[in-house]
Amino acid sequence: MKPGELVLTAPRAKKPPQHISDLGHDQRREVASSLGLPAFRADQMSRHWFGRLEDDPSTWTDIPLAAREALTAALLPTLLVPVRSIDCDGGETIKTVWKLFDGALVESVLMRYPDRVTMCVSSQAGCGMNCPFCATGQGGLTRNMSTAEIVEQVLAGARSLARDEIVGGPGRVNNVVFMGMGEPLANYNAVIGAVRRLTAKSPEGMGLSARGITMSTVGLVPRIHELADEGIPVTLAVSLHAPDDELRDTLVPINTRYKVGEVLEAAWSYARKTHRRVSIEYALIKDINDQAWRADLLGKLLKGRLVHVNLIPLNPTPGSQWTASRKSDEREFVRRLEAHGVAVTVRDTRGREIDGACGQLAAKSV
Ligand code: SAH
Repeated sequence: MKPGELVLTAPRAKKPPQHISDLGHDQRREVASSLGLPAFRADQMSRHWFGRLEDDPSTWTDIPLAAREALTAALLPTLLVPVRSIDCDGGETIKTVWKLFDGALVESVLMRYPDRVTMCVSSQAGCGMNCPFCATGQGGLTRNMSTAEIVEQVLAGARSLARDEIVGGPGRVNNVVFMGMGEPLANYNAVIGAVRRLTAKSPEGMGLSARGITMSTVGLVPRIHELADEGIPVTLAVSLHAPDDELRDTLVPINTRYKVGEVLEAAWSYARKTHRRVSIEYALIKDINDQAWRADLLGKLLKGRLVHVNLIPLNPTPGSQWTASRKSDEREFVRRLEAHGVAVTVRDTRGREIDGACGQLAAKSV
């Protein structure tokens, strides 16, 4: 065999099967028609799936059995199988590791607060961005997730809440953050599809508010511009982690391509177009990026902008030397940002004792 042939014969990754959550209203109707069914059967199915959060087709008795079976076979392949679920905070934080159709593992987290429920979802199995402090980054990218694989993480949480399976009584999902595994803007089309499904009015979608959805990115500049033009005003969160290129080149390696200045310009342009306040994510790492001078530099860069800084105490990953900042340095960092008039909060570190978000739980389940 010649060397080049290996590449040609390498197995192509199979795509996840098509699922109702991949499709919009018209496409679902087309599938129903292609099965020889009246198009309105697709609407009935959507009402069960998204409207009533009823995932057991045997209860969909308004649809004749044969039609139900045809629709189920065509549009409801099993996409996510729970492998492990673990909770903390008295059951108000629940992480689930899911196995996908090809064996890839991803994770989602449900966080219940007194006034809302936030779901943190994965957009890729693994991640190609290689940030050295992030557990997911260490394993590389396995593959992009499909729109339905992303949406179904949220629907699984919504169903558990609706069925009163979560501490705190029946409830609903209010917020979705793309802060699980993966770089969402590197899987742009599937992620935009998911956002459309999450925000479409029930029963086409889940009827969530775009403002309750946060897209977290390392700063893929062209994609940030594209996102601004989608007309879906999601909240943009930029994982900055350093105000200077020298350090950011090492903490967020894509910075060698899109520099701090360019990423922030894209963020300001996003804020101008969408009128949405941008979040800046900054994991405070002891003696690496938490110096007072860096707080001042960050303050200067952000001063006067429509922005809010989220400081995240580093969640140490196995095998890494890095750890969270001293509380005194964290306080000084906050103080200096505030002195520049920049809004800042230190993120609550839910779920830390059960291995945080950031890929640690899935990594342990392999
Ligand atoms: N790829 C996207 C979204 C996934 S990570 C992004 O980078 O924004 C979500 C957030 O968690 C990012 O801000 C990321 O930098 C941060 N993060 C990753 N590992 C972390 C860790 N060990 N401790 C604290 N924050 C971490």
